[in-house]
Amino acid sequence: MSPKDLACWLEKSGEKPYRARQILKWIYGRQTDRFEDMTDLKKGLRARLAAAFSNVRLKLLKVERAKDGTEKFRFGLADGARVESIRIPERDHDTLCISSQVGCAMGCAFCLTARLGWIRNLTPGEILSQVRDICRASPRRRITNIVFMGMGEPLANLDNVCRALEILTQSAFGLGFSHRKITVSTAGVVPKMAELGRKTRVNLAVSLNATQNKTRDFLMPVNRRFPLERLLEACRAYPLPPTRRITFEYVLLKGINDTLDDARRLSRLLGPLRAKINLIPFNEFEGAPFQRPEEGHILAFQKVLLDRHMTAIIRASKGSEISAACGQLGAPAHAA
Ligand code: SAH
Repeated sequence: MSPKDLACWLEKSGEKPYRARQILKWIYGRQTDRFEDMTDLKKGLRARLAAAFSNVRLKLLKVERAKDGTEKFRFGLADGARVESIRIPERDHDTLCISSQVGCAMGCAFCLTARLGWIRNLTPGEILSQVRDICRASPRRRITNIVFMGMGEPLANLDNVCRALEILTQSAFGLGFSHRKITVSTAGVVPKMAELGRKTRVNLAVSLNATQNKTRDFLMPVNRRFPLERLLEACRAYPLPPTRRITFEYVLLKGINDTLDDARRLSRLLGPLRAKINLIPFNEFEGAPFQRPEEGHILAFQKVLLDRHMTAIIRASKGSEISAACGQLGAPAHAA
């Protein structure tokens, strides 16, 4: 529930609306699970809250740990659906990669999550609980960054994602993450991009993955509705705060989108934008119809971009031996 909705509920119940902040501070700041433990509220209010609301909890079904320290958390939801979230250790902090939907409707040809199809949207509480529960399970880690790059398309569940973002970024009564350290990634749901920019100040990432419509149509069906021209137009129009850039993800697929002409086209398309490019060599999964290009070729692709003064990094793939790398999240959607 958003702070506003909770304040309304309190007012209707004859309570002071400012209590909303107090209650949220207990839930998110102090990680209190039970209303009866919220000792600065009157006993009567605590009981009424307990009768009216339940605290969303995910069931932690499984944690897998890769040699590089990456951990994959598999959560069970109240209706038996499952999602996965990843904790990625970096040099001086950790990044969480969280899910916004159970399954995904985007149907990208190279992504394992797509094979589940779309099952349902996550609620704001379920999105937040991934963060809360992983922070709680990892008390000694400095978790500062969050990317919406797990299962699902965040812009296809934008209302719930925005509600979750409001609490994630509130320091007075929320989880206190900085807008600058949160990134929402989209496959290119063009009409929702402007709305994200209007409603939040978090970073935007766009999964570009091809430089020509015919290739992108085949890899990412969303391109048939919102082709490259419209996607890039929406990027140009995006209300980017002064020192920030849009991240463009580019999955490198051998023989499909990895020619040096692709690299040159990529720099032409993104040159006019404040952009940084994340090159993600394809992460394999069972039955995947694609291959990762050879190391030398990946470097040659990157060099074309660097020579044209683009920022382009090759994303080290972490956690692939536990299927925790980009595009490898595919928890069976329901309990087996
Ligand atoms: N639906 C959103 C959020 C998911 S982000 C989006 O598409 O942006 C997941 C990222 O992983 C995307 O950039 C996608 O292009 C990339 N990806 C998917 N499958 C992959 C794979 N098998 N190997 C490498 N990257 C992959």
